[in-house]
Amino acid sequence: MNDILELSAAAAAKAVLAGDLDGGELFDAYRARAGADELNAFLWVAEDGPPASSGPLGGVPLAVKDLFCTEGVPSQSGSRILEGYLPPYSATVVRRLAAAGAPLLGKTNQDEFAMGSSTENSAFGPTLNPWDRTRVPGGSSGGSAAAVAARLAPWALGTDTGGSIRQPAALCGIVGLKPTYGAVSRYGMIAFASSLDQAGPLTRDVTDAALLYGWMVGDRDPCDSTSLQFPGPIELPARSDLRGLAIGVPAELTGEGVEPGVLAAFEATLELIAGLGARVERCELPHAPHALAAYYVLAPAEASSNLARFDGVRYGYRASGADDLIEMYTRTRHDGFGAEVKRRIMLGTYALSSGYYDAYYGRAQRVRTKIAEDFATVFERFDFIATPTAPGVAFELGAKTADPLAMYLNDFCTVPMSLAGIPAISIPCGLARPPGGGPELPVGFQLAGPAFSENALLGAAFALEQALAFDGRAAAGAG
Ligand code: GLN
Repeated sequence: MNDILELSAAAAAKAVLAGDLDGGELFDAYRARAGADELNAFLWVAEDGPPASSGPLGGVPLAVKDLFCTEGVPSQSGSRILEGYLPPYSATVVRRLAAAGAPLLGKTNQDEFAMGSSTENSAFGPTLNPWDRTRVPGGSSGGSAAAVAARLAPWALGTDTGGSIRQPAALCGIVGLKPTYGAVSRYGMIAFASSLDQAGPLTRDVTDAALLYGWMVGDRDPCDSTSLQFPGPIELPARSDLRGLAIGVPAELTGEGVEPGVLAAFEATLELIAGLGARVERCELPHAPHALAAYYVLAPAEASSNLARFDGVRYGYRASGADDLIEMYTRTRHDGFGAEVKRRIMLGTYALSSGYYDAYYGRAQRVRTKIAEDFATVFERFDFIATPTAPGVAFELGAKTADPLAMYLNDFCTVPMSLAGIPAISIPCGLARPPGGGPELPVGFQLAGPAFSENALLGAAFALEQALAFDGRAAAGAG
């Protein structure tokens, strides 16, 4: 393979800025590779390189999840109902990154409206895991994760509502950061559940994640009323040990339901952390086991409201041949939405209906508050919390499509942080064999910290990454 594709994004940016590498050549190398994608990671690839970039990101091209609006470029959120939709503007983060010198390489595959954990809910077919093409890359940002792992892109944007950056990062052996809620503008992201959705980086290493993230945060965006000013700049991580840190390991998220191979890699990583000087102790998040149930009321409730706008009038697909308006709405939504999206709209509409609102939505909101309080209590004693990112390694295509509850269980370890709005990062911590046997696959290690602790979190993840020395190159030949 072309050597320049082996450079990390940060190294490539540095080489371009130093005049040692031609930015146009780098873009063309990735464009050719993404264009020959055999994983169905990309739904659209740029035809022309951008004009030579002088931004601090050096012109290193960026893969962007389909649900980010990109001006004049298909932005379909993995859905038939938005097929061919060309937005008249770009999302704030896409605009900021292009201005900083990370031009759009392509749009990546995802579960429809980001609902899923395997990318199999995409209207455009599943993405394949570059480690083993018979397996899923995780989801919903599976296209972005597979593209980065297979070196089809130097780095990528994903979104995380309940785990959709961290879980595919884990299953593909790369790094994924879910930011503090509000740290990144949601303007121009096609909404799933607005109180949870956050954009974040999917990268080959922690340094690349910090570099990309540093240009995603920034001034509060007046176009997103929930966006917040990030306190201070994002630093490039440099720490080499974990001395002075206390890491809590919540019993509720590190036992039952986790595959033995994943648990073994997780425990070995905890020992490594202790060896790097941190204090590692068990802790409790008593309400965490209820997070999944609360999430699957709240996220569908918000989705049912957000998806009401797709009616065949305003965007994308419209069913033809209807005799009146109601029939046109009905047929458009019947044909345009996939089964999982319809399931969530029905669940959400039910949970919000007048007689049931308090029993479901109201109660789930109270559980959400309890979960946030649990974290606040734990962070009085600990700097970070550690868990496996996902309870298992990448599963086979089709293994969970018939059983929505089995699919939902993938988010067991990631949803609590989403409900609490706190940042969390997944880094690859080793390999494990799937329960049924077969080649070894990547395992993700999740670290979560208090709101706005991204600098500390990236620093700790960096020190751990150096000690782990995980080698992700096995996925690189899989384009
Ligand atoms: N898998 C979860 C869901 O289906 C989370 C998805 C996400 O984070 N976008 O809702």
